[in-house]
Amino acid sequence: MTVSHILGYPRIGAQRELKKATEAYWKGESTRSELERTGRELRLRHWQAQQDAGLDFVSVGDFAFYDQVLNVSVALGAVPTRFNAQHEVAGGDIDLDTTFRMARGRAPSGEPAAACEMTKYFDTNYHYLVPELHEGQTFTLASNRLFDEVDEALRAGFTPKVTLTGPLTWLWLGKTKSGDFDRLTLLDSVLNVYGEILARLATQGIEWVQLDEPALVQDLPLNWQQAYERAYHRLQSAPLKLLLATYFGGLGDNLSLATRLPVAGLHIDAVRAPQQVESVIDRLGPNQVLSIGFVDGRNIWRADLAALRERLLPLKVRLGQRLWLAPSCSLLHVPVDLAQETELGEELVSWLAFAQQKLAEVVTLARLIDNRTTPDDEQRLDEATRALDARRESTRIHQTVVSERLAAISPADSQRQAPYSVRADAQRRALKLPLFPTTTIGSFPQTDEIRAARRAFKAGELSSADYEARMQDEIAYAVERQEALDIDVPVHGEAERNDMVEYFGEQLEGFAFTRFGWVQSYGSRCVKPPVIFGDVSRPAPMTVRWSQYAQTLTSKPMKGMLTGPVTILQWSFVRDDQSRETTCRQIALALRDEVLDLEKAGINVIQIDEPALREGLPLRQHEWQAYLDWAVASFQLSAAGVANTTQIHTHMCYSEFNDIIGAIAALDADVITIETSRSDMHLLDAFQDFAYPNEIGPGVYDIHTPNIPEVSWMVDLMEKALEKIPAERLWINPDCGLKTRGWAEVEPALANMVEAAKVLRQRY
Ligand code: GLN
Ligand code: ZN
Repeated sequence: MTVSHILGYPRIGAQRELKKATEAYWKGESTRSELERTGRELRLRHWQAQQDAGLDFVSVGDFAFYDQVLNVSVALGAVPTRFNAQHEVAGGDIDLDTTFRMARGRAPSGEPAAACEMTKYFDTNYHYLVPELHEGQTFTLASNRLFDEVDEALRAGFTPKVTLTGPLTWLWLGKTKSGDFDRLTLLDSVLNVYGEILARLATQGIEWVQLDEPALVQDLPLNWQQAYERAYHRLQSAPLKLLLATYFGGLGDNLSLATRLPVAGLHIDAVRAPQQVESVIDRLGPNQVLSIGFVDGRNIWRADLAALRERLLPLKVRLGQRLWLAPSCSLLHVPVDLAQETELGEELVSWLAFAQQKLAEVVTLARLIDNRTTPDDEQRLDEATRALDARRESTRIHQTVVSERLAAISPADSQRQAPYSVRADAQRRALKLPLFPTTTIGSFPQTDEIRAARRAFKAGELSSADYEARMQDEIAYAVERQEALDIDVPVHGEAERNDMVEYFGEQLEGFAFTRFGWVQSYGSRCVKPPVIFGDVSRPAPMTVRWSQYAQTLTSKPMKGMLTGPVTILQWSFVRDDQSRETTCRQIALALRDEVLDLEKAGINVIQIDEPALREGLPLRQHEWQAYLDWAVASFQLSAAGVANTTQIHTHMCYSEFNDIIGAIAALDADVITIETSRSDMHLLDAFQDFAYPNEIGPGVYDIHTPNIPEVSWMVDLMEKALEKIPAERLWINPDCGLKTRGWAEVEPALANMVEAAKVLRQRY
């Protein structure tokens, strides 16, 4: 019999119950035991779903009140001293509030302290808490939570498989905090605790433990590869079976390493790296289990069960009982249950599968290749085939105009008419901006009133005309404030936008929006990515009327505001029936039309935000260039149609520019605004070293805090910038958009910022 299992289930709950419960607890509106009860209910419900679907195991250890990587840090006792947790460990557990303080800096009990850093988990939009590592640090088992959850599952009659971030991936995700030392020097102590955990799990009767080691799909230095051998040789003495789980890509040059490790089983991702399956099987030990992930754990499309059965049958012949089936990775990255989507339309729903549906897909596949199908399985197979055939043929997906237009693009379409130096002259004459022009990144405060108006509009309580009028009032207010502040390049303020991707997706063909398609982003924060299901086109202008109206209110050049093609792509669920590149180019063409319409409407400065450019980088470096090539070409395609006098801006808000500085330059935006203030302008070094040729607005203050920046502080920062970039090419702006701030902070901060620009104009 083919074993079917999953690598993990979304913990947030179909109705975001976990979000609501944790937030209520943090606000003091509920008790610890109420929170724990919600956690228990969700775990039981999710285990029940797995058992009901017919999986051979339920997944234990994938639950977390905040983050699974943080859970491991806590279990290892890797709690930074500023959280004062030492006294908690003796004999007991690290307290849940300490875990929350590590994640958020504060909790209902305990002293506030600076939260741990958070960053994206591999190439997902899920954020984990970065383990803080110190030279000579030792680890001790400091939490019983996992064992308690195992007991809970056993008591309820389930057969658990335990999942845990593997020791090397945990270290790989960690950062050295006391000088730069080799993280691998900590491995032995980490392994001691893992050994202890495994031994405890064995006494609880656990047969299989899945250790997640996605670091194995990345480029690993030789000493890390060797550490894998060392670590897993040590762990092999554990009195239970280990399933080494890899996902998000192929094993590549770690393939023979991974197949050599003395573990009872290996899981591989056959969605991202279908070509690796046969080579892995060739190298697998004669008794090793191979779990293959053919069902996509990162996307929401229904699996082609008939095609997968054909693909799997020969593998079944080769592997027999040693073949296991699972989704490609944990289902953490997809929404919970499609059954709730009553408003998507039957057709679209028939093409999709969320976590709950993917459970059934894995089970059915296993039974199909075992020839022990139930009538349910036959029906599922049939439905899948019919739905996929319909999807392939659907006129909702394929628009000939779009494909013809895409085919007709020439490289010239991605080229501005003249090089930057010529454009800069033309723009100087047209825009007449002072030295050190001031601007903002786009959004102004999204006040409660704005949100209430949008809610009323969506609920049908506010007419579309009234809503438009309300938004115009907001725009007028934002423009008036910017005039009073003497900002050189004002913006309309983005009052009308709920979200920088959703706003555009709602107006583009080829996008759909779910009602409950929430995916955990970090802690209690969830995102609801749009679904790009078909060819993308723009039936009508999307932002022109707002920008045009804003321009009537000022004689200064109004900056139009768009989200770039790569960011829209990156923050959506994308089609699996064509390349990301093609989808990105389609979005780019739609945006190109918007850019040209803005220009026609008299908007001569247009910003195309690309905060997600860097996070789209593939996990393997040798794939970077190919990605950057099409990502850059897409941006250019959206931007390059304008006249020399039209100034194109872009904005990025992450902090590692070194890797992609060449690509940033290749975007050929006239102006880029970036987040730098917290780095003391050091992030400009990459631009200086590269001799970045165009204009830059290094953010002069951090919008993530409510503090009002002082004039002298911003002047000093700009003086540092001036050591790297000549004055004629510098702009002055905040780090990022102001939507999360209040006007009471924004006004004085911007007043000081404009003042700083004026001080600098005296000096230069
Ligand atoms: N224009 C957007 C804003 O100001 C940019 C947001 C972002 O960079 N994430 O809100
Ligand atoms: Zn930003």
